[in-house]
Amino acid sequence: MTTFQDLGLSQKVLNAVTDAGYSIPTPIQAGAIPPALQRRDILGIAQTGTGKTASFVLPMLTLLEKGRARARMPRTLILEPTRELAAQVAENFEKYGKNHKLNVALLIGGVSFDDQDRKLERGADVLIATPGRLLDHCERGKLLMTGVEILVIDEADRMLDMGFIPDIERIVKMIPFTRQTLFFSATMPPEIQKLADAFLQNPERVEVAKPSTTAKTVSQRLVASHGLDWEKRATLRELIRSQEADIKNAIIFCNRKKDVADLFRSLERHGFSAGALHGDMDQRSRMTMLHNFKEGNLKLLVASDVAARGLDIPDVSHVFNFDVPIHAEDYVHRIGRTGRAGRSGSAYMLVTKRDTKHLDAIEKLTGEKIEWQAGDLSALPEREESEDHGRRERRAGGKGRERDRDRGRKSDRGSKRDTAALHKTDIVGDVDNKAETMESAMPREAHIEKKSDTPRHERRPYPANDDNRGRQGRRHHQNDDGPTPIGFGEDIPAFMLITAAVK
Ligand code: AMP
Repeated sequence: MTTFQDLGLSQKVLNAVTDAGYSIPTPIQAGAIPPALQRRDILGIAQTGTGKTASFVLPMLTLLEKGRARARMPRTLILEPTRELAAQVAENFEKYGKNHKLNVALLIGGVSFDDQDRKLERGADVLIATPGRLLDHCERGKLLMTGVEILVIDEADRMLDMGFIPDIERIVKMIPFTRQTLFFSATMPPEIQKLADAFLQNPERVEVAKPSTTAKTVSQRLVASHGLDWEKRATLRELIRSQEADIKNAIIFCNRKKDVADLFRSLERHGFSAGALHGDMDQRSRMTMLHNFKEGNLKLLVASDVAARGLDIPDVSHVFNFDVPIHAEDYVHRIGRTGRAGRSGSAYMLVTKRDTKHLDAIEKLTGEKIEWQAGDLSALPEREESEDHGRRERRAGGKGRERDRDRGRKSDRGSKRDTAALHKTDIVGDVDNKAETMESAMPREAHIEKKSDTPRHERRPYPANDDNRGRQGRRHHQNDDGPTPIGFGEDIPAFMLITAAVK
């Protein structure tokens, strides 16, 4: 069996690896490290979770032991699609580079240019950057790319999804042709193959099997739900409460970042210990949120696929799929967040009548039938009233309690209109992109500090039930989750109550 000693790494690096507790290299490490140390280009086809980061960090550290950085001329450059991934790679340099004296500069958006400028001025051995911020620095004349000896392009397929390819092409043009290039992607669609052909010279191709299978340690269940947002949120709350004794911490996945915001706020209102992670949060909030989740200060983290992609959060006990993912592979990624390293984990997925096609695709990909928790969709109780009728009744007077709830949600109207707009245009799939912004839906500070009278550590992670909340008499707990008010809410004029088809 190959050990780290067999790969040609320096003693300083080997010591750090031993201190990190690793003895056996993962397949991507065993395959990529020796040719990388021989200054070969690498085409690594592997996802996060395979030990991919160390497969480029360890040889880079060894190679960087010779030579020194010059001001504003970084020696190596690592491009990452998201700030979190960039920060995670920086942490890896800290962990494995603890016996080295290397300057590592992190150039990511959302933090001030000044500190980054100072680091560059001192001379960076390793520059870890997201493409946009790197180009900003280049345009300000603070950065020369002509000294880059090693270029790493990580998560190339994510870069493609996020529209970064033109930026990457611009950056690569600034770097000498004589560089060594390490290129990683989880998948190889034609566009990525074209880039690899253009950027790499005679690369060593290292491919790690794509996880189309799910870990045997993860128990998977489907939970039938009615399809309106508030109905799904109620189903989820019930599910979380039913699992309370077993949940250490959980990630809840939504397909749209708008829904991440809505669900996060809803869980907060219901007194759950929750955080959220999505692409439009400012950097400080994202890092604080992630830190609090990793430290166990937050029990539930609501996230979109893109925001959560590649995050190294070990030991999550539960994954809840609030939405059935549109792309079947995302299901495998999502539930791969639990049951890591042989631990047991639980994955639940809410399924509505609209989701059967995507559920079929998941079961086809994984080759497994997933069991229903308490009866399939045919076992769902009939709704007592039609959705429209129910909404109108409540708005028009209904029970006092319902009216109170809706009144409490008046401030949400703007965002509800956004939700309606999203549904109208039927945006599906991965819409966690730059174009869709939801600052209005989610006040920034809310990501960091909950508006709660009770100190966080005294709060129960999973409040008992909705009735108890009511008795606490806390208004912000009372005003969720009646049917979502759309447009005018309860002040709706009579003429608007005429049924009209929304296309
Ligand atoms: P990555 O794919 O780089 O995100 O790494 C996923 C996780 O695997 C991280 O928590 C690493 O610390 C861990 N890891 C990396 N290399 C090894 C190894 N050789 N043995 C065990 N765990 C590792």
